[in-house]
Amino acid sequence: DRPPRLLRAFICPGEGEADREEGDNSATQRTIRVMQWNILAQALGEGMDSFINCPLEALNWAARKYLILEEILTYRPHILCLQEVDHYYDTFQPILASLGYRGNFCPKPWSPCLDVEGNNGPDGCALFYDEARFDLLDSVNVRLCAVLIPTNQVAVVTTLRCRATGRRLCVAVTHLKARSGWERLRSAQGSDLLRNLTTLTQSPGGPTGTAPDTPLLVCGDFNAVPSEDVYQRFASSPLILDSAYKRLSRDGLSEPAYTTWKIRPTGECCSTLDYIWYSREAFSVDAVLAMPTEEQIGPNRLPSYNYPSDHLSLVCDFSFKKQE
Ligand code: NDP
Ligand code: CA
Repeated sequence: DRPPRLLRAFICPGEGEADREEGDNSATQRTIRVMQWNILAQALGEGMDSFINCPLEALNWAARKYLILEEILTYRPHILCLQEVDHYYDTFQPILASLGYRGNFCPKPWSPCLDVEGNNGPDGCALFYDEARFDLLDSVNVRLCAVLIPTNQVAVVTTLRCRATGRRLCVAVTHLKARSGWERLRSAQGSDLLRNLTTLTQSPGGPTGTAPDTPLLVCGDFNAVPSEDVYQRFASSPLILDSAYKRLSRDGLSEPAYTTWKIRPTGECCSTLDYIWYSREAFSVDAVLAMPTEEQIGPNRLPSYNYPSDHLSLVCDFSFKKQE
């Protein structure tokens, strides 16, 4: 017997639950659906994460990979940003390619997966896009620095052109340093990412001090709660970014209560670490996938037989605002 999937509804900011007609006119065509998800590296889940309430059997790769793919295919994002991918070449790249996606992968230089016996190679960030919707203009792999010193954290930054509208967008995926005590490193990594994004989104010779030329979407496991410095840096960046999941809240100002929920020997960890940032002046947020309730997640938290990662997926529908 299979436990039920976590059923989640799309919420339209300011309008309550979405009433969406599939195949509906030009609006549907212009929608850009984005998924952000730390899928939990197979080597880390089995080898070092110690999720004490999750039976090892629920982490068996032969079954778990289908739960990950099912989650992706349930929402069919046009842009898919993943962290902790340690099965890119043998699983996600070929399977998603057969479904019309193209991807780029950046492994971590010293992935902790490599310390696990029987590992499948380093984990890293992967960025996939729907090839029917976008042309690839450019993709770079970035090793994040902290005060000029290269760190173990990376980003993939891909620039796309929407085939239907001709409009460009720049998408980034990252996974910042984990654990408490590393707040300053995360902040420095965030600054370095913002610096890279500024360079990549402003055309050479373009006017400085003005809005960037290419609108941005930045997806990540920032390993930082909203009160942390790195979050504040993104929220107050001259790139004029906003965090899409705030739109789930009643006042539109607060992040959800959790994006990850797990139980380790050190205790329960229920916190908001994952974000989708977007250029506030270029995009509107049309719909946001609600988080499952505590009851849906269940008493043993995540991962579980129902859900393959300790992080929940974030899914949003964006559309370009009318050009000025
Ligand atoms: P991080 O500290 O960023 O975390 C690595 C992974 O561990 C993340 O995926 C994180 O998941 C997960 N994690 C977070 N908290 C815990 C926890 N309490 N228990 C178990 N897992 C947790 O890793 P780094 O990139 O800094 O790499 C650290 C490891 O990499 C070192 O332990 C070492 O093995 C190796 N390394 C080796 C070097 C070398 O010179 N050989 C150099 C640098 C690193 P999440 O993000 O979901 O919280
Ligand atoms: Ca992890």
